[in-house]
Amino acid sequence: MSDLRELYQEVILDHYRSPRNFGHHQPSNREAKGNNPLCGDKFTVYALVEDGMVKDISFEGRGCAISTASASLMTELLKGQTEQNAQAMFERFRGVVTGEQDQRLDDGLDKLNVLAGVRGYPMRVKCATLAWHTLKAALNQTDETVVTE
Ligand code: ZN
Repeated sequence: MSDLRELYQEVILDHYRSPRNFGHHQPSNREAKGNNPLCGDKFTVYALVEDGMVKDISFEGRGCAISTASASLMTELLKGQTEQNAQAMFERFRGVVTGEQDQRLDDGLDKLNVLAGVRGYPMRVKCATLAWHTLKAALNQTDETVVTE
């Protein structure tokens, strides 16, 4: 188990040090801001949605290793999905990290198991889900800043 944990930590640190899809990609037609004041994570998430497809996702801001790695992984996994799939993936990820769903992530979401270690640490769950809540707000075109409290 500790080998696995080390591997997970390496993946998280890799995404933290070189986050994917970082910086505002143009064009985009959806955006939302997210703020996790308990930790100091602050992101803006941008998306390009056309014909029900999430064609591009990018993000800007500053956050801890968990929130940044989660945002980076999210952009990789949800890019190219239908809006409906993206929402479903959000629900599954949220369910697993909050412990509401007791199962491992698979079907293309297995990469996210590196973040499942936050389960049981409510503060870390907020870090891990911040970018996801923010993307959801962007897709739903909610104009309010997402705050994790
Ligand atoms: Zn954080």
